[in-house]
Amino acid sequence: MNIEIIKEKRKSIILKVLSCEKAVLKVPLHISDKRVNEFIKSKTRWLDRVARKMEEKQEFSCSFDFNNFIYLHGKKIDRKNNLIEHFDEMSEAQKSKAIKEFYLSHFDYLINLTKEISEGSNLKYKDIKPLNSVRIWGSYNVNGCIKLNWKLLVLPENLVKYVICHELCHSKYMNHKPIFWREVQRICPNCKELRKELENYSFLLNSNL
Ligand SMILES: [Zn+2]
Repeated sequence: MNIEIIKEKRKSIILKVLSCEKAVLKVPLHISDKRVNEFIKSKTRWLDRVARKMEEKQEFSCSFDFNNFIYLHGKKIDRKNNLIEHFDEMSEAQKSKAIKEFYLSHFDYLINLTKEISEGSNLKYKDIKPLNSVRIWGSYNVNGCIKLNWKLLVLPENLVKYVICHELCHSKYMNHKPIFWREVQRICPNCKELRKELENYSFLLNSNL
């Protein structure tokens, strides 16, 4: 791991991992080299852990070929050109529009799954809409409207179910306090593992499919 050390006017030490090979350490101007070295030494194991995690995530995202294929419900289904008419002849803007339209044509799957989970758990919602976000998978507002990111259609069903359970639990608690997580666990007992697994897919949120 290559650590860039920046001395600047500040009171505390900040260590930030930028990639699996690079980190930045920001330290106060008059700190001694000894103190800096001690600090780095104390963080070695943490740095290794974070770097390893980043590497795994990178490997996972590289296992998808979004340039040529379309993925649905966790499976590679077919070449884009076979599924979307004249795909190869489109401009980049037309391509991303066509891909989004393809996924939105499958949005009923998310509507039905939400209905099923809501009925089984007795957690209510009033309306459901597609969400276009590069940050979040879903949301639930005070009016009972649940919004689900259309990119959820790429994910395996167990992860989609977790996101829906999570959002539906906001019908009871509009926060992420322990009482909220207990409710999530009630209807989705393996939510902790699923949440971790979902992390692997976070690269999708701000990438082109
Ligand atoms: Zn939430």
